[in-house]
Amino acid sequence: MNRTQPFSLVWLKRDLRLRDHHPLCNAIALGNPIVIAYVIEPWQHLDGHMRTRHWRFIMQSIEDMQQELGKFNHQVTICQADIVKLLDAWSIAGLSHIFSHQEIGLAHSFLRDKEVLGFCNRSNINWQESPYGAVLRPLSNRLNWRKHWYGRIKEGVYDPDLSSLETLKLPKSQLAELPYQISNKALPSKWFTEHKRFQKGGEKLAWYTLHDFFKERGKHYFGNIGKPERARHTCSRLSPYLAWGNISIKQAFQVARQHRNRDGWARSVEALCSRLSWHCHFIQKFESEHEIEHRPVNHAYQAFEYDNSHASETMLDAWKTGNTGIPIIDASMRALIQTGYLNFRMRAMLVSFLCHHLNIDWKRGVTHLGSLFLDFEPGIHYPQFQMQAGITGTNTIRIYNPIKQSEDKDPEGIFIKKWVPELSNVPKEYIHEVHLIPPIEAQLIDFDVEKDYVLPIVDVNERAKLARDRLWQFRKRMDVKAEAKRILKAHTVPN
Ligand SMILES: Cc1cc2nc3c(=O)[nH]c(=O)nc-3n(C[C@H](O)[C@H](O)[C@H](O)COP(=O)(O)OP(=O)(O)OC[C@H]3O[C@@H](n4cnc5c(N)ncnc54)[C@H](O)[C@@H]3O)c2cc1C
Repeated sequence: MNRTQPFSLVWLKRDLRLRDHHPLCNAIALGNPIVIAYVIEPWQHLDGHMRTRHWRFIMQSIEDMQQELGKFNHQVTICQADIVKLLDAWSIAGLSHIFSHQEIGLAHSFLRDKEVLGFCNRSNINWQESPYGAVLRPLSNRLNWRKHWYGRIKEGVYDPDLSSLETLKLPKSQLAELPYQISNKALPSKWFTEHKRFQKGGEKLAWYTLHDFFKERGKHYFGNIGKPERARHTCSRLSPYLAWGNISIKQAFQVARQHRNRDGWARSVEALCSRLSWHCHFIQKFESEHEIEHRPVNHAYQAFEYDNSHASETMLDAWKTGNTGIPIIDASMRALIQTGYLNFRMRAMLVSFLCHHLNIDWKRGVTHLGSLFLDFEPGIHYPQFQMQAGITGTNTIRIYNPIKQSEDKDPEGIFIKKWVPELSNVPKEYIHEVHLIPPIEAQLIDFDVEKDYVLPIVDVNERAKLARDRLWQFRKRMDVKAEAKRILKAHTVPN
């Protein structure tokens, strides 16, 4: 009679790498045969945040792991199934342990994890979860969080000895392969079609990007961070690699620190290290209050009055597609649609325009924008979106003037002309507000703003004034202030 051999599952999620991988190290230490698997779950297909760009990045990351694991006769097994059904079937085949990172994800993954835990308890399967970055679960206050962050980020990395990986051999009489395995051919071919405008996934490229940043291009990071065109080259561009776990925050931070005493690099290194800590800080917020996926962190803002009129639908659509008639807004949205990347300032400006100038509910734009970010990370995206929408009651309300941003951050209109090509002949004097081009100038370049582009959907100054009055008025409410106190207590890291 064939006896089932106990085996371990290393369940990959947003940790698509082979180095600094605590769960993989733990699985190897246990000594059982190991299956490293990525499971595509039904809810992910229905999740509005996920687009082809993300699946492509995930598949590229897995392919990179396959190349490395192949050297050790191992592989990543790709499966498609409801995870509990899969675990049920695999437990019959001998699954005894699961090793994974904690996932600080959307409500779906939170509920899924609860089901998995229930199943493991019922079936006597041991599930060991390793912390994600420096995020603590659970956490009641932030008093010692900074100390904890530094401690976690400076500790040694978990590099597994891949030569010790033992592969699972299924008894021939039982199963040809584990249930729910799926071949690449059965997945949409567009997930495997490279797209040159998007960053490509994989651990090797993550390291290349990090080292390349410290060769030269990152030296002017700090000065260019707000400029939409330059930022594409001088920012670290690590975000998708961090979001999908091709590199860990700890790895990135430890490399960054090595450069802090280099001549001329101090400000850039400091700025990058701060942002790497913000990464965990924001995800910690989301971990502690994940309900903000569906409601404002400041509960009082549930009563805030947004424009829900029919006309707001048309304006929302103009925002989503980059056809608002405000060149810097349209260039930002179109760059994002076509490349999956946008620098921080322009992301903030897009949200400010949606929620302040158009007075459209943040909930109507948050999924769309997240789905365009190749680096979509729920724990950063949701708190950042709400902050920029001015509904925390704790942060300074910033209503970005898109015309001023355009003049300051893209004075020559290089970014605008690249992504809104119909404006490529417009002289730079008029590029920030093309509807103001004098008729004679327009005639000289054979340009008709209404026909060739679009008139602004709102008067920016007028709308900003209305937004300011609305927002500051609301902020005086007692319930907003009471909630602000609670938020500061729960989420603020003492200096
Ligand atoms: C509305 C809005 C939504 C956002 N959504 C996301 C998201 O889904 N995923 C995401 O990774 N970033 C998000 N950000 C933060 C920031 O814009 C991006 O991390 C950054 O632009 C990515 O480019 P980079 O890797 O070149 O960043 P760099 O400036 O080189 O920073 C290095 C890393 O630090 C982290 N980081 C940088 N800025 C921030 C910040 N403000 N808050 C938290 N972490 C930060 C990121 O992990 C980033 O990769 C959002 C910002 C806004 C305003």
